[in-house]
Amino acid sequence: MTTYRNFINGQWVEASAGAVIENRNPANKDDLIGRFPHSNNKDVDAAVAAAADAWKSWRLFPAPRRAEILFRAAEMIAAHKEDFARDMTREMGKVLKEARGDVQEAVDMTYYMAGEGRRMFGQTTPAELPNKFAMSTRNPLGVCGMITPWNFPMAIPSWKIIPALVCGNTVVLKPSEDTPLSAVHFIEVLEKAGVPAGVVNLVLGSGSDVGVALTSHPGISVISFTGSTAVGKLVAESCAASFRHVHLEMGGKNVLMVMDDADIDLAVDGAIWGGFGTSGQRCTAASRVVVHKKVIAEFTQKFVERAKRLRVGDGLDPAIDVGPVINEKQLKRILEYVRIGQDERAKLLCGGNRLESGVHRNGWFLEPTIFGDVSPKMRIAQEEIFGPVVSVIPCDNLEQAIEIGNGVKYGLSAAIYTHDVNHAFQAMRDMHTGIFYVNSSTIGAEVHLPFGGTKSTGNGHREAGTAALDVFSEWKSIYIDYSGKLQKAQGID
Ligand code: NAD
Repeated sequence: MTTYRNFINGQWVEASAGAVIENRNPANKDDLIGRFPHSNNKDVDAAVAAAADAWKSWRLFPAPRRAEILFRAAEMIAAHKEDFARDMTREMGKVLKEARGDVQEAVDMTYYMAGEGRRMFGQTTPAELPNKFAMSTRNPLGVCGMITPWNFPMAIPSWKIIPALVCGNTVVLKPSEDTPLSAVHFIEVLEKAGVPAGVVNLVLGSGSDVGVALTSHPGISVISFTGSTAVGKLVAESCAASFRHVHLEMGGKNVLMVMDDADIDLAVDGAIWGGFGTSGQRCTAASRVVVHKKVIAEFTQKFVERAKRLRVGDGLDPAIDVGPVINEKQLKRILEYVRIGQDERAKLLCGGNRLESGVHRNGWFLEPTIFGDVSPKMRIAQEEIFGPVVSVIPCDNLEQAIEIGNGVKYGLSAAIYTHDVNHAFQAMRDMHTGIFYVNSSTIGAEVHLPFGGTKSTGNGHREAGTAALDVFSEWKSIYIDYSGKLQKAQGID
């Protein structure tokens, strides 16, 4: 049994209090993944001090040279993709092909941001006076604190760490206590690729100890958080006290809209993978499917029939479609929502039960669950369940589908299935979400486009693309007067 460590100032070290947290495979509770540090504020202090010290030289290290280290890291992650994916499936349950996709996101992001090391464009503009030069440059912020969830254990840390590094910041990462191993793998790669001591630090532990200590630490310049909206609010409140920059990516209640001219089989496929991929534990999960009344009977019959055929089990088995949910607490929460849906008089069309015998006896498994006759105001259609539970909601037309789609507090992702180009464009314009798909499910992203959401999903920032650089740098405007004499400014400043 391996006991893992924190990574502070280029050294793998135990938590200062020596305490550990055990991490277990959600498909088999008897499979102990490892023992990981149960860190506290002293460990956070040490990591932030190391990062602050390392920043003095890292910020001056030329960006193309920083990028060369990142490029090496991308190659190393790609070389270890299969091992990292297997460990990820063991520690958080998603089926192996999805875990490979998670690692691939980290590869893609790291290559992409390595390219930014030779771009990171600012502006040059004409100046108001003769013999004067005007430009703007991006500048790093300092030490970035990063707090990440368990559902994308390598992709999400990479979306934050890699753009922060290329911009010239240093980092303290606190990943989810449910997925420390994937974070350890990622940080080991950065170490081996040649990231200097102190530039990247890893502090493992709980949100209440390490997370709180990080968000309130005076040495941190920006917090980048991905997780639930409830915790994101606490993080924002903690950062507000010191005007610390804060970047929040939070919950979703995404909608997949099926119009009466849609290819129904294609839409069913999108609803299956959007609803039940990663056991419904994606921020972009298609947890609501709004279907035109003319096709709802055909759609629902095919959707339920496909959902019943999904094979639930250990994600390492290639025959399995849907893995376990992350832990017992989450399993109970999802079952509570099934009860709420029944109390609300939604029609339980399939699933709704825990699977706990035979191959399922040692894990946290649930049947893929579909509710029909759901009305948009029911709690199961409003609240993020974060499990394999989908609500099918009828609609009369596109306008009503859009109104239902927008009628939640979240705004991450939406999809429409239609062959009418006018309907597709209208929905694209009117859905108040950060991501929109046509004839494709609500899930999946490419690293060179911005990723994030509106309303209670985000606070106006985005991960990925050049938008990520905006989180981890700030602008400096520079005026150079080469006239050698007093020039009379025209402006009021
Ligand atoms: P969570 O909010 O419970 O935890 C997220 C992280 O915050 C963890 O590392 C946790 O330890 C830490 N944390 C907990 N309490 C804290 C506190 N008081 N102060 C600081 N940190 C604290 O979320 P989760 O269960 O890990 O992940 C699921 C949630 O993440 C879902 O709501 C999902 O929609 C969301 N998510 C959003 C995106 C996105 O890009 N919008 C992506 C993935 C997941």
